[in-house]
Parts: sequence; C-alpha cells; structure tokens
Amino acid sequence: MNAPTLLVDDPILIRSPFGAAHPFRAERGALTRSLLEACGALAQDEVASVSRLDERLLHSVHDGAYLEALVRAGRGERVGDLRRFGLGTGDCPVVEGMHRVALRAADATVTAAELVADGTARRAVHLTGGLHHAHRARASGFCLVNDLALAIEHLTQRHGLRVAYVDVDAHHGDGVQAAFYDRSDVLTVSVHQSGRTLFPGTGGEEEIGSGAGRGFAVNLPLDPFIDDDGYLAAFDELVPAAVAAFRPDVLVLQAGADAHWRDPLAQLALTGDGLDAVFARVIALAEHWCEGRMVVSGGGGYDAWRTVPRAWARLWARLAERELPEELPAAWRAEWQQRLGVRLPEYLSESARPDLDARATARAASHAMAVATRVATRLAPLWSAAA
Ligand SMILES: [Zn+2]
Repeated sequence: MNAPTLLVDDPILIRSPFGAAHPFRAERGALTRSLLEACGALAQDEVASVSRLDERLLHSVHDGAYLEALVRAGRGERVGDLRRFGLGTGDCPVVEGMHRVALRAADATVTAAELVADGTARRAVHLTGGLHHAHRARASGFCLVNDLALAIEHLTQRHGLRVAYVDVDAHHGDGVQAAFYDRSDVLTVSVHQSGRTLFPGTGGEEEIGSGAGRGFAVNLPLDPFIDDDGYLAAFDELVPAAVAAFRPDVLVLQAGADAHWRDPLAQLALTGDGLDAVFARVIALAEHWCEGRMVVSGGGGYDAWRTVPRAWARLWARLAERELPEELPAAWRAEWQQRLGVRLPEYLSESARPDLDARATARAASHAMAVATRVATRLAPLWSAAA
C-alpha cells in the first residue's frame, strides 16, 4: 500500500523570521494550505506536526559560533561582528524571535524527511522551507538556517540513503551545494538564472563538485527571459540523465516559484503551466528512481499572492493526486483579500502571458540547450566512473 502524502506545518510558520515588511512572505504557505482546504484537496489527517530538531544534526550543518550569534541576536542581545555572520543586513535583518522561526522551519523540513525515511509517508511537503542560501557559518539571501541541508544530512547520516537534490528556484542553491560539494552520497542539481545576472552570483556550469563529490554537483545556469519550452528542453537534456546516473533512494525538491515571469526579483519567464510541468518532471523522476519517495520544500516566490499559492497548490495536487477546481473558492478569496489587503486571482489557470521579445527567448533557449549539453557531456564519464 502506498503511504500518503503529508503536509508538515506549524502555527509559528505563518510568521516570517524577518517581520511583515520583508519580501520573504511566510504567509504564502498558509495561503496555499487554506486554498487547498477550501478546495477539499487537503484533509486534517494529511497535516503532520513538527518534531524537534536533533541538536547534533544542527551542529553538523552549521558552525557553533554562527548558531550562537543567531540565537543571541534573535533574543535581542548584543553580538559583536554581526556582519561576519551575514546578519543585520538588508536581506537578513535582525528581528526579535527570528531564530525561533528559522529553527522551527528547519525542524519542519527535517520532520518531512523523517516521515518519508521511516515510511510513514511516500511524499512529505513543507512549504515555508527551502532556505537554500544559508551557509555553514553565515546567513544569506533571506535564509538563516539551511533546512534542506539538515534534511539531506538526516537522510544520509541517520538512514544511510542516497539523496538527489533538485533545486528549481530561480536563484542558485548555493548553500545546499556547498554543504555537499565533496560528497558522493548526495547529488545536487540546481537550475537557475545565471549568477552573471542574479544573486548569489554562483552556480556556473564549471561548478561540478570536488574530491569524492566530483560530478555530483550539477548546475544549469539560464539567461533571463527563457520561456517554458526553452527551460523544459534544457532541463530534459541534463537533469534526468544526472538523476539516472546517480540512482538515488530519495529525491529532495526545492520548489521555489520565482522562475515565474511575474516574479519581481528574477527575470526568468516561466508561466504557471511551465512551473507545473517542471514539478511534474521532478515527481516523475522520483517515481522512476525512488519508488516515489520525495521530500519537498517551498522556496522563493515574490509574486506572493497571485503566483505562489496557485503554483504550490498545483504542486500539492500532483503530489497528493487530487483535482483542483478551475474557479478558486470565493470564501477563500474573500477571507484572504481582507486579511492581506490584496486582490487574489479568481481562477487556477492564468490568462495573462508574458510579453517577451522573441529573439531574446530564442537566444536564451539555444544558450540553455548548449550549456545543458556541455555539462551532460562533461559529467557523463565521471558518472560512469563512479557507477
Ligand atoms: Zn529564489
């Protein structure tokens, strides 16, 4: 019998660690959950609560001095040299209680990993996770604690599983890549807008892992304005081959929704259907190679109200094998429009399409395919040597 798909959630996770004025809108998770409930696509017994994180696991991924600085700053204590830890910046301002939210979010993704590893669930999802920029000793890019690195470390160390990590956020998954760069039991794949034009600046095709991990870091950097077809063709050229060569036991997906054309912080040009097709491909890879076992986090997504809830609701519907209505429930719209003071979409599908320069999209598509082919060709011998 197939174990179910579970959503891991906690009341504290409706708060952003950085407060209400920050672009990282934690309410996206709650908005998505509430949409799914209103559509009858998520039942009470499909929601799992968060278990406490093991301190040893936390210290295996993050440096002790950084964790101490994070906790002290979050408690309002004075910390010398905050900037050394990436704290007190525009991206990661110091806000009271931020450490509690960040650590709970990490607990939630690790809980999702444990539910899958122990067989309780085949797929487990934590929508307010996906903090892929957090480094061992430094906060970065809205990310304080690297919930994904913790979840992957839990799967490898506690359960001895081989983990394929696929990150489709518009930004390079630098923190997760760095955590496993020299490891052969974790494959990291990141498809993102090139670091030449977007934060964090890394994720070039030449980053392929080092030592025992050589060949097991895979990067597909894309130019701005790539559309659905260009993205999917390049993805298909590289990602399935990498996962097939690696033969994972479990797949971890960072499902950022900021590759969408409306996203104000990135310049890729996927539609809602395009994002859905990307998620479908990753799910199919997990079906084929991992008996469906998947740990899924949210991630970026800064067109927070129009784009993200629909993208993640469609992702959940695929994972849990549910149908969503085309017309979104009026009661859900009314409640959240009032709470958030914004207009929410009426339909699941998008009618608007990006207005793209055809030459720029064609150039981005052929560049992406060339990169994907080069990376696959370069890595194939490393993959077969490791097999
Ligand atoms: Zn992002």
